[in-house]
Amino acid sequence: KETLERLKVLSFPFELPLEVTHYIGGEFVKGENPFPVIYPATGEVIGSAPEGRAKEVDLAVEAAHRAFQSWGKMPPSERRPYLRRFAEKIREYRPVFEVLESLDVGRPIRENRLGYVDRMANNIEFFADFAVTHGSEAYPMENGYVNYVLRFPVGVAALITPWNMPSMLATWKIGPTLAFGNTAVLKPAEFTPLGAWLLARCAHEAGLPPGVFNVVHGFGPDSAGELLTKHPLVRLISFTGETTTGRIILKNAADTLKRTSMELGGKAANLIFASADLDRAVEVTVRAAFFNQGEVCLAGSRLLVERPVYEPFVEKLVAAARALRIGDPLDPETQMGALIAEEHLEKVMGYVEHAKRVATVLTGGKRPDLPHPLDKGYFLEPTVVVDVAPSDKVCQEEIFGPMVAVLPFDTEEEAIALANNTPYGLNAIVQTRDVGQAVRVSAALEVGTVWVNDWFVRDLRVPFGGAKQSGIGREGGHYGYEFYYETKNVCIAN
Ligand code: NAD
Repeated sequence: KETLERLKVLSFPFELPLEVTHYIGGEFVKGENPFPVIYPATGEVIGSAPEGRAKEVDLAVEAAHRAFQSWGKMPPSERRPYLRRFAEKIREYRPVFEVLESLDVGRPIRENRLGYVDRMANNIEFFADFAVTHGSEAYPMENGYVNYVLRFPVGVAALITPWNMPSMLATWKIGPTLAFGNTAVLKPAEFTPLGAWLLARCAHEAGLPPGVFNVVHGFGPDSAGELLTKHPLVRLISFTGETTTGRIILKNAADTLKRTSMELGGKAANLIFASADLDRAVEVTVRAAFFNQGEVCLAGSRLLVERPVYEPFVEKLVAAARALRIGDPLDPETQMGALIAEEHLEKVMGYVEHAKRVATVLTGGKRPDLPHPLDKGYFLEPTVVVDVAPSDKVCQEEIFGPMVAVLPFDTEEEAIALANNTPYGLNAIVQTRDVGQAVRVSAALEVGTVWVNDWFVRDLRVPFGGAKQSGIGREGGHYGYEFYYETKNVCIAN
């Protein structure tokens, strides 16, 4: 295999884990029913993962349940050194994670080198420290009674994650789950099992007690994912993925009344006002639109541009989109890689074909000419669409690819109305140099996060989650308490 031959010349601390296993009760379990791991940039089968079914799910949940009996009783300061070692291991394997993420996702390796692995480690370290240092509330009453709030862990958590930023999103859940005293079974997306396997190896080498962290590979419906959401010993489900999947999981979790956290799809508006620094606005817009091939829940895929700057903005945007270097994800110069899978490329191409009929495609909309073996990869040029109605599906549905629609507006009120006019409410971007306008518009947007003059800047203390159909609940800092902890009030008489 050409990709595998190429990888041999890169040096790694150990052989790349391309035939991955489950990780259950502290052991790497080979499993059965292998399914292929396909490298999106060439379409080659580069490895395999086993599909977990009832047997593996039961074993993993039971191991997690056993481990919870002691892990859940440890004070946070005793859990912290384990988690710090886990984070250290992630940093130690930085070059391997960088390559595996590109092999799993098709994302350019340069994007994995822009703080991605650090963020993975920080996701764990931050919550390990937070659990130790953060206090609680007290409510003294006028009659002299005192209330104080205690928190304690819930139990076994199923962490069900998507393929677009697999290792980062997994650690975003692993951190608070384990730091707050729960134990975990991670079910990574079927397209991206490699990074999850390496996370298991990191946990193992960090010496986490067996069963505290488990990984079971497999699919969603009638497979490991669904089985976890129905398992009676699973008390929490932290899910990130599509809104449609979230609805199914909520229904499946209802019979056993599980606590759920839903981080779902998005269709972010990016509002560019006439006062914005146009060059910076274009730079932010290109990043928000095409980072990770546009396969980001937070992607700024609806561009709303104030009429006086509409034409110059679109001209600069098209030039910047055309200048992006698309190709081999493992080449450090590459700026855009391949979409995750053939069926996903077909789905995105469906939107492109529709846009060609009802709107104008200014640039992109086709597969780039790339040399063998990349000619078999799932690439799509960055695509910019104009002359499209705000009610069209291109402006309403989550495309999850490198395709943006640009709409002009005349007033601030119109911009806000357009921005709020989708079922989603994950995030928005506001680009303006008028501070009052930034404050007014941010307040009026029905979303969980607003970035002003930038995108995807994350502080782990702040709330993260979606309004409307983009999710239920918030995670981050103490906002995760309601989900990852049970809360108990103690009321003392005087
Ligand atoms: P998906 O919903 O298809 O799959 C996500 C995970 O759920 C996978 O592990 C999958 O195997 C599993 N799954 C599927 N059906 C299931 C079922 N019935 N029961 C249990 N598990 C099931 O999503 P995807 O295509 O992997 O990821 C892309 C989506 O994720 C996009 O909609 C994107 O917006 C969203 N996303 C949201 C955030 C956020 O923070 N809000 C972050 C990243 C991605």
